[in-house]
Amino acid sequence: MIVGIDLGTTNSAIARWGDGGPELIPNSLGEFLTPSAVSLTDDGEVLVGRAARDRQPVYPERTATAFKRLIGTQKPIQLGGTSFTAEEVSALVLKSLKADAERHCGEEVTSAVITVPAYFSDRQRKATRRAGELAGLKVERLVNEPTAAALAYGIADREDRDPFLVFDLGGGTFDVSIVEIFDGVIEVRASAGDNRLGGEDFNEVIVGIARERLRLPLGPGQPKLREQARAAAERTRRALSEAEAATFEVVWKDELLSTTITAEQFEAAAAPLLDRLREPVLRAMRDSKLHADAMSEIVLVGGATRMPIVRKAVTRMFARFPNANVHPDHAIALGAGVQAGLRARKADLDEIRLTDVCPFSLGVETMARDANGGLHGGRFAPILERNTVLPASRVHRFQTVHAQQCFVKFCIYQGEARMVAGNIKLGDVEIPVPPRGAGEVEVDCRFTYDVSGLLEVDVVVPETGETRQIVIADEGMDAGEAEARRSALAALKIHPRDQAVNQALIARAERCYEAFLGDQRAAIGQLLAHFEGVLATQDPRAIAEATAMITARLDALEGERYL
Ligand code: ADP
Ligand code: MG
Repeated sequence: MIVGIDLGTTNSAIARWGDGGPELIPNSLGEFLTPSAVSLTDDGEVLVGRAARDRQPVYPERTATAFKRLIGTQKPIQLGGTSFTAEEVSALVLKSLKADAERHCGEEVTSAVITVPAYFSDRQRKATRRAGELAGLKVERLVNEPTAAALAYGIADREDRDPFLVFDLGGGTFDVSIVEIFDGVIEVRASAGDNRLGGEDFNEVIVGIARERLRLPLGPGQPKLREQARAAAERTRRALSEAEAATFEVVWKDELLSTTITAEQFEAAAAPLLDRLREPVLRAMRDSKLHADAMSEIVLVGGATRMPIVRKAVTRMFARFPNANVHPDHAIALGAGVQAGLRARKADLDEIRLTDVCPFSLGVETMARDANGGLHGGRFAPILERNTVLPASRVHRFQTVHAQQCFVKFCIYQGEARMVAGNIKLGDVEIPVPPRGAGEVEVDCRFTYDVSGLLEVDVVVPETGETRQIVIADEGMDAGEAEARRSALAALKIHPRDQAVNQALIARAERCYEAFLGDQRAAIGQLLAHFEGVLATQDPRAIAEATAMITARLDALEGERYL
């Protein structure tokens, strides 16, 4: 039997193709959702699912959750005295799902379709594949989560060919994707998200309200109370999905502390989180160049979209009602079940091939002259931009910068930062050029990137016909790493207060640089270069003028109405 599996950060689920449709398979507790939690008992026994989740507060050092965030890395996960990798712990979850399905269906599960986030790098995909293999499954295919959601909503059977916007708010991650079907090919046109936003953050909001009203001593010295408060908040929040008000209750020092929270109060306190839902939606639409009106459906998936305040925010954002006809907790597993069914009935399979997008920008380091003629290196020139549909090949032409230069070196980077220092270096390639005046020799640099994660960089000097090539396998390409490196760098730098306004403007411009693509990105890069030049003059009037001009330009850009 072939199954479809949603291997989630918080919860996992398994489905198969049944009588004319996908159906979920319950676990041994009779539940469709299995928490992605693993715990090791004193006897060396592995617990998976609800039991493991419930052990977490008591045996934190023997229990692992949210390990999907680490898949594809070698970071050790300690369970008792034993060290595991994220792919091994994930394999334990898959094994448990497989065993439950075999018991329920009375049939051996031999192979699976497993879903992964659209932004997963090749390394994370390979690790997920290996997790399946470690669990004794033949992994027939990995499917992007938003693609699976769209399949559950029948995107493959529709007359219209308009794209779906998949809005996925889970326990700790938020993903927005635009999925389109064309000639039997499903394509993720763009994906954006916030990997630190989900149901857990909304729990913190409830804890915050309760803490203030009940004066809960939630300091670092009280981990037990903290965990109790978190669990109570989860209950309150779920109750608020059904009712206009719910009670938050904890027992502390034999005393029952309780307070009633209304939906309105929750909504007001959660406003900053609800605001954060907007930016990734805008980014996905911008990257795909598709307007909200062009979407055939706004599809809600992920358990946290069951919160009415989230639905309200989405409705307001799009000025129309989202579709949640398929249970948001089950949509991805059901879609994996559809794909498993197609796979089993070989005939249908060819109709759906899945293409992918490049999850990050790839480019080279360049030098540029400022207004005063000074030469500055360290700038990042993206060649393949984030969300380019793969396979893709793009070429950029560069000129020499020095007179009598006899070779050109291309340093290759991955990331979204404007300066290469904030990105990850993947390698370099050097090519000889005929010695001439500065700017007189041209060199073409072509990037070719395919779905298997191989990046080929070809450089050619058209004048001499000289060529060089470097092939980079995507070891070391990890969106998370760049982010971690950037925040580590940001934490180190301490700017003098009197430059705060300038630094804030640069930070905003750099944030915009990362958020926009194409001409807009290039324009922001020019604004930044201009601003740096003006700052170097130390002329307060020129600086004030530039600040005002750039602020206005950024306001115009960010205020652009896509919704
Ligand atoms: P993931 O994709 O991270 O594995 P899920 O899609 O399973 O996560 O979503 C888990 C989140 O959904 C949790 O934060 C949980 O609190 C939330 N959730 C589930 N049911 C409800 C509900 N009825 N009301 C509010 N939140 C819910
Ligand atoms: Mg999910």
